[in-house]
Amino acid sequence: MFGENNPEALIVGAGPVGQFAALALARRGVRVRVVDRGLWPCAQSYALALHPKSMKLLAGLGLRDAVLSSATMVDSIGLYDAKTRRASLPVADGAGDGVAVMRQDVLEGVLEQALEAEGVEIEWRNEVSRIAPGPSSVGVTIDKFTKESRGYVIAHTEWVISKSTEIETPFVIGADGYNSRVRRASKLDFQEVGPAQYFAVFEFKTDADVNREMRIVFGENTTDVVWPLPNGACRWSFEIPGYHDENLEGLQKGLLAAGFDFPSERSKERLFVSQGADSPLLEESSFRAMIAQRAPWFTGQVGEIVWKSIVRFERRLTSAFGDGRLWLAGDAAHLTGPVGIQSMNLGLAEADELAAAIAGVIRKGEPAASLEAYNQKWLGVWRQLHNLAGGVQASAGADPWLAAHASTLTSCLPAYGEDLGALAGKLGLTLARAAGA
Ligand SMILES: Cc1cc2nc3c(=O)[nH]c(=O)nc-3n(C[C@H](O)[C@H](O)[C@H](O)COP(=O)(O)OP(=O)(O)OC[C@H]3O[C@@H](n4cnc5c(N)ncnc54)[C@H](O)[C@@H]3O)c2cc1C
Repeated sequence: MFGENNPEALIVGAGPVGQFAALALARRGVRVRVVDRGLWPCAQSYALALHPKSMKLLAGLGLRDAVLSSATMVDSIGLYDAKTRRASLPVADGAGDGVAVMRQDVLEGVLEQALEAEGVEIEWRNEVSRIAPGPSSVGVTIDKFTKESRGYVIAHTEWVISKSTEIETPFVIGADGYNSRVRRASKLDFQEVGPAQYFAVFEFKTDADVNREMRIVFGENTTDVVWPLPNGACRWSFEIPGYHDENLEGLQKGLLAAGFDFPSERSKERLFVSQGADSPLLEESSFRAMIAQRAPWFTGQVGEIVWKSIVRFERRLTSAFGDGRLWLAGDAAHLTGPVGIQSMNLGLAEADELAAAIAGVIRKGEPAASLEAYNQKWLGVWRQLHNLAGGVQASAGADPWLAAHASTLTSCLPAYGEDLGALAGKLGLTLARAAGA
């Protein structure tokens, strides 16, 4: 049934998580196909940092040097309020890996190149439009889109389906982001587990000596983050409590109810980005005012603002990471705030474990039911990160300021599981366990 044209695993979505899953499977000798309905890879620095754990996973695929050659290292986390730095903790793990700051599009480029070297070409402009799971395989329809000139009096170009292919494959990995069709085909819920947050994000040139430090800045009802970027730049993300963008939220509701439209440039459907040129919040004066109010200790010069945006981040968790022949990883399964860069980084770890488990079934004859352990583990990890079961908590004698911010820190530190527990421990806090985490 699974001839040469049918992959042993189909990966839907070629974001960082889908590409990582494809590479991890290909390296284990599994025949993969990766399709993405987008027109091309993303061209932005969205999730901009790799956890120490992700560095290890990338090293395992032989990509450590490729990543380090375009990354800036962060080796400590500073915790601030409006007055001063209240705490600092080293972020490097026992093996000396820090957090690597790297643009998401650069990471995707590294992964795509490594896939090409394995003989796997990402099939852009290919949308999975039908998923029919069976007991031992999945029927999938893939629509290929091409641009066609139409009209006579007024010529215009349109994206049209040029070819639809039916395939049958033993496994499908849904790395297809916010509006995951794979998740919807599995009839899984994607419950909101906390309120959505808006952030005003600025990337700017500065002469500040940011000292290889990631800075988390707590206000009365805000959590902001400052990242050093390569070439004398920083990214500052300011939480904007109470902000609403009715147009974006209406669009999102419509998309969730009706599916999604295609094609557009590759978009991150989870996050409705308003470039916000018309928002006063994104004016330089507003940027300077937020720094003056929330972080007057930042005395570096604010030079050219090279990118700015208002981004909405939701908090959601799937009811299961999959079942049978359909499995999820990355934003398809979970969404959270931006500070700890957890969505993408945990997505890479999920992709790695899922690839190992699927390869175990295909190559070693392990039972397909063994994948249930993947579901249990990652539900537990994410329930902890969303403070639904466990999370960072104050231990006896903890510093009162840190104790007051403990539960917020759960989603803001660049780690999960044991590594998160170790970081919390350095602050005199503890990580309460959730089953399976
Ligand atoms: C402006 C912005 C700023 C961000 N900042 C941060 C940050 O500071 N910290 C942080 O942690 N995260 C941030 N993110 C989020 C981060 O980009 C995501 O967590 C990450 O991209 C998730 O990767 P993924 O591979 O799971 O999904 P995605 O990157 O969303 O990839 C999913 C892919 O699936 C494809 N797809 C969807 N449906 C289909 C289908 N039916 N058939 C074929 N292909 C399909 C899509 O085209 C897409 O390419 C930011 C995002 C944006 C937009």
